[in-house]
Amino acid sequence: MDFNDTPAEAEFRLAARSWLADNAEPQDPATPKPGVFFGYPSADEIAWARAWQRKKYDAGWAGIAWPKAYGGRGGSIMEQIIWSQEELRYRTPPLVLYLGLGHVAYTIMQHGSDEQKSRYLPPLLKGEEIWCQLFSEPGAGSDFGGLACRAERDGGDWLINGEKIWISDGDYAEFGALVTRTNPDVAKHKGMTYFLVDMQTPGIEVENIRQINGRSHISRVRFTNVRVADSQRVGEVDDGWSVSLTTLMYERLFVGTAGANGQFGGPVYRHLVDLAKRVTYQGGPAIEHPLVRQRLADFRVRSKELEHNSYRVLTLVSRGEQPGPEGSISKLALGLLIQEMSNFALELQQGAGLLLGDDAPEEGIWQESMMEIPCMRIAGGTDEIQRTIIGERVLGLPPERPVPRNTPFKEIPRDEDAVASARAK
Ligand SMILES: Cc1cc2nc3c(=O)[nH]c(=O)nc-3n(C[C@H](O)[C@H](O)[C@H](O)COP(=O)(O)OP(=O)(O)OC[C@H]3O[C@@H](n4cnc5c(N)ncnc54)[C@H](O)[C@@H]3O)c2cc1C
Repeated sequence: MDFNDTPAEAEFRLAARSWLADNAEPQDPATPKPGVFFGYPSADEIAWARAWQRKKYDAGWAGIAWPKAYGGRGGSIMEQIIWSQEELRYRTPPLVLYLGLGHVAYTIMQHGSDEQKSRYLPPLLKGEEIWCQLFSEPGAGSDFGGLACRAERDGGDWLINGEKIWISDGDYAEFGALVTRTNPDVAKHKGMTYFLVDMQTPGIEVENIRQINGRSHISRVRFTNVRVADSQRVGEVDDGWSVSLTTLMYERLFVGTAGANGQFGGPVYRHLVDLAKRVTYQGGPAIEHPLVRQRLADFRVRSKELEHNSYRVLTLVSRGEQPGPEGSISKLALGLLIQEMSNFALELQQGAGLLLGDDAPEEGIWQESMMEIPCMRIAGGTDEIQRTIIGERVLGLPPERPVPRNTPFKEIPRDEDAVASARAK
């Protein structure tokens, strides 16, 4: 593991720091707060995100790792990460553009046609168009290959029918990266096709899902006879699985490096220590109580472990290698750690920990964190899925169960078939 910047990286970091110092306001030390990882951005925050992206674009700081041919800076993924680390020290808008700029853009670069690249990449880089990722369905989340939303040929176009769910930014995104079932007669991974869809196309209905914390970050998206031109297809017909793997690989990269960016773990720990300094526990200052100190020490050690695991990801990235299961380790450990830290904060608040909203201490940030954390433990691959990856790829355990790789999709029993047959009885 190499913790140090190379001379070139150090030079890049200095240049980034200098531009940020002149163009952004320093971060309030009390932020980022625990709690709002997937907050629902207001219209003003979305406008701010677009304007900030445009400002970076005009100054040559957008798309650090994008090739110059697409308007980017032509840097390395490592430079992109250094930029994120530096940017985090400043007050910046919520991450409403990252699905497009990160996951979808790299997919278009690798698999898109020349027309798709010139139509979609420049507006993405300038912050003009927001994207969502239309992958999950009511019957296909962890088992993404089991998706059923259909795309059928209709003349030169495609007609899309079906449903997607848990779609982040779905109600304000202008475009979506959509994966559909085009051939149910072949094995499930072989009959999927990837499209780029304008979210204003007639037949698309977006319905917000209300989360336990009252926010609505995610949506259900229904498709009824939605007409999509064949020119919107990415990659070959029935080859959407391999196109999707690029999108999912960049999603994993984002998660795997988040710890090293200083996101989440470290700031949440610092808030917890501040809380322990302010409240009392068993008749004395909480921060002086041995049990509290023991718990805080445990959290600190685990935050550091997480940070160092993220450096393993960074080391691989800086050598030009693909990160493997290290990202799964980070994701699993981070979700559990923040959940335990939030739970401990509520214990420290004692009776007041049960209050919600304006009545709750500390503006309710710890209560909010407890309600948000299941999102983090599910989105981008659940804890169980991460454990399976670690079991198989780190511990060398045998695969959990044989996958029916050659069974045609239409012969695989589906939940809705079981529900329909139960209803019929
Ligand atoms: C905040 C949030 C944002 C999201 N954003 C998006 C988005 O923008 N786009 C998108 O397409 N999707 C998005 N998702 C969906 C997310 O990818 C899925 O929720 C996730 O993959 C889990 O799928 P599922 O909800 O269908 O649960 P399921 O896959 O049905 O899992 C249900 C339970 O069974 C367990 N399980 C399933 N399979 C196995 C197995 N093989 N071994 C052991 N346990 C198993 C799971 O761990 C889980 O506990 C988002 C989800 C959340 C919570």
